Amino acid sequence: AAAPVDVIVVGAGMSGLCAARALRSQGRSVLVLEARDRVGGRTKPGAIAGVKIDLGGMWVGPTQTRLLALGEEFGLQRYPSFIEGKNITEIGGVMRNGSRDTPGVALSSLPEFLGLVSKIGGLSRTVPLEAPWTAPDAARLDSMTLATWVEQNVRSPALRTVMESISSSIMAADMSQTSMLYFLFYCHSGDDLVTLAGMGSGAQKWLYRGGLNQVGARIAAELGEAVRLNAPVRRIAQDAAGVVVTSDAGAFRARRVIVAVPPALAARIDYAPGLPALRDGLCQRLPMGSTIKFWIAYPRPFWRDAGLNGLVLSDRTPVGLYTDVSPDAAGPGLIAGFFEGSHAVAWGQRTAAERKAQIVGDLTRLLGPQAAQPIDYVDNDWPSEEWSRGCYVGVAGPGVISVFGEALRRPVGRIHWAGTETSTVWCGYVEGAIRAGERAAAEAHAALAA
Ligand code: FAD
Repeated sequence: AAAPVDVIVVGAGMSGLCAARALRSQGRSVLVLEARDRVGGRTKPGAIAGVKIDLGGMWVGPTQTRLLALGEEFGLQRYPSFIEGKNITEIGGVMRNGSRDTPGVALSSLPEFLGLVSKIGGLSRTVPLEAPWTAPDAARLDSMTLATWVEQNVRSPALRTVMESISSSIMAADMSQTSMLYFLFYCHSGDDLVTLAGMGSGAQKWLYRGGLNQVGARIAAELGEAVRLNAPVRRIAQDAAGVVVTSDAGAFRARRVIVAVPPALAARIDYAPGLPALRDGLCQRLPMGSTIKFWIAYPRPFWRDAGLNGLVLSDRTPVGLYTDVSPDAAGPGLIAGFFEGSHAVAWGQRTAAERKAQIVGDLTRLLGPQAAQPIDYVDNDWPSEEWSRGCYVGVAGPGVISVFGEALRRPVGRIHWAGTETSTVWCGYVEGAIRAGERAAAEAHAALAA
């Protein structure tokens, strides 16, 4: 049997890779066990019309400082999301062009939107990031869904549609699937609602040329043979001496383990002794959201000639948001978009060819006849991937965070928990994954030194 290492990391997503890197830099020996035949997890390379792209996590924003620092360290170049010109909003049969970077506001009244943003902002700041269950009104807020709250607090039908779109575009879950307390925590964690939802600003400000996925690939290259692919972890046994982690690539011993997978996937591992009921209960209750991400390519971003920026929010299409992500005005025109929440569930039962036909039809109506002739198309059905089972993030319905939340980061013996779901800051995002990995690494390092 191989010599024990200090720490085994389960999962080579951004969180696990960053945990391993941090431990290595502190002189600890590590082994990363990854189920898939690739690293990166919810970040994933792809290609369209000869351009390297992200099929998973893609954007980075100004307050995502750990990710920005890694991008700079690896010499990656960023380009801004294209938002010059008019976006298209189509709600309740009415179509408008607007230039605000929060699509949809064109169809509701701006004061009502700003009032809503400030109300949600005020409420979200009452939710402590480290312990949302201690918020003054936690029990009541966690007893209702975001849908119920919006029904009670938002009068304009257009603004309700905008809220549904925001809910699905930030969590990939419908408003009816999300606890209001969890939504408020999520808003606070990602600065505020406008930062989360803004296109061309906030969380969607920049993209990486060649893909964000390069960050994970570079860290994995540094870690070299310490990363084992095709090694799904099936069992974690611990006793006073250490842990034994059993994977399809063999059993390995360590002094500590960091589980850097979403709670819904952590629930599929066997633990000996079994997990405390609180932790197990949490893992049973954080289902993954649903997203199918697609890219469609044209010879040029032709919509820009008509003064459009390619940003579309429409309740007549199953796609939550279309956005222009072309790296160069002269090169291929690229639009990325997402089937989210219940739309992703429904369209996951169709073929990629059917999805493409729907998108081409909708874009032809919205952007003009040139949209009928794409030169390439690719999509990624995340809920169908065995080792993700959905995305962007595990989402809490009512009654979860207030009851089980305190188990999120609490170590269980020699097991530490990472993954973006455990982050207090930028939970659900790559930034949160990095921070959670580094936090769990610090915990394991301190425990080893004790
Ligand atoms: P994961 O990436 O899920 O990593 C977990 C790893 O563990 C995976 O590699 C998995 O294969 C592995 N694993 C699971 N079970 C086992 C097991 N039993 N044994 C061994 N290995 C196992 N974030 C942004 O910041 N910006 C964006 O623009 C953005 N857009 C997104 C778009 C899409 C379509 C998706 C899917 C996600 C997006 N996100 C975005 C979210 C972001 O990608 C994730 O928050 C982040 O990548 C999560 O990293 P993680 O390491 O916590 O988890």
